[in-house]
Amino acid sequence: KSEGRGMFRFFEPDMSARIQARRELELDLRQALGAGEFHLVFQPQVRAATEVLTGFETLLRWTHPARGAVSPAEFIPLAEETGLILPIGEWVLRGACMEAARWPDPIKVAVNLSPVQFKNRSLVAMVVNALAASGLPPHRLELEITEAVLLQKDDVTIAMLHELRALGIRISMDDFGVGYSSLSYLRSFPFDKIKIDRSFIADLDRNKDNAAIVRAMADLGTSLRIETTAEGVETPEQLAIVRACGCTEIQGYLISPPKPAADALDLIARLYRKAVAA
Ligand code: C2E
Ligand code: MG
Ligand code: MG
Ligand code: MG
Repeated sequence: KSEGRGMFRFFEPDMSARIQARRELELDLRQALGAGEFHLVFQPQVRAATEVLTGFETLLRWTHPARGAVSPAEFIPLAEETGLILPIGEWVLRGACMEAARWPDPIKVAVNLSPVQFKNRSLVAMVVNALAASGLPPHRLELEITEAVLLQKDDVTIAMLHELRALGIRISMDDFGVGYSSLSYLRSFPFDKIKIDRSFIADLDRNKDNAAIVRAMADLGTSLRIETTAEGVETPEQLAIVRACGCTEIQGYLISPPKPAADALDLIARLYRKAVAA
């Protein structure tokens, strides 16, 4: 406004174009599931010390018929705002459990859950059904949540998490360290794993002091007797530092980018069977 009317005129068409583009994307998202435009990719998680495979994180991919690959960073928020995350999230969980049921017994599958899914009272039943339909034992399923799930300190959400954990499912805190009060959320629920946010790992190369922060987070995991996974490990230097810091698991492009289901079986042969045979 302080820029005068001319500026307002200048921005207006641009904004409405963006709103229009967003509406179109939302309409496309509404039919993406039925049109078979989604697929799952799986990224390995390995032991930090030995690089032996422990499991895979499931990540959703959308191939838009005209625009090609759309980033989850763009469409997941849209799916959350529209409630579409409920059917999409169920599709992801079912697909992930089906795939993981074909993997050797100790290999786990991790699935990201949105805060919106915790607003749905039938979340626990949905998870139980996905396990039953696939035959995957609960101890091989990991659910990743961010602190956004716990933001409202909502008793119903905490109760659901306890129910899931009582079934033998593991609960991980994703993107640890970048929220407002990650430490306080650790008190509200007994997590099985802390996933140290990728930004801390990326910084390791730029500033060696950042290793002190990663070490503190790994020490926290050790004290709580839970796993600490370093996310986004891209270089051998980063791997050496997170190892020295005491992280128990790593995930990142250095080991492998997320891959389609068929490639997950190859990764199991390379990163698990070979290691076990050795
Ligand atoms: P996230 O759960 O923290 O997933 C890790 C993200 O880091 C993934 O991005 C992965 O591809 C990326 N990544 C892994 N290793 C590296 C690395 O070495 N370097 C770099 N630069 N990136 C790496 P992606 O697949 O784009 O997913 C972004 C976010 O979207 C996820 O973050 C998660 O919050 C959300 N998301 C993805 N799939 C789902 C889903 O099925 N459900 C829900 N609710 N959210 C999902
Ligand atoms: Mg995750
Ligand atoms: Mg993460
Ligand atoms: Mg994230």
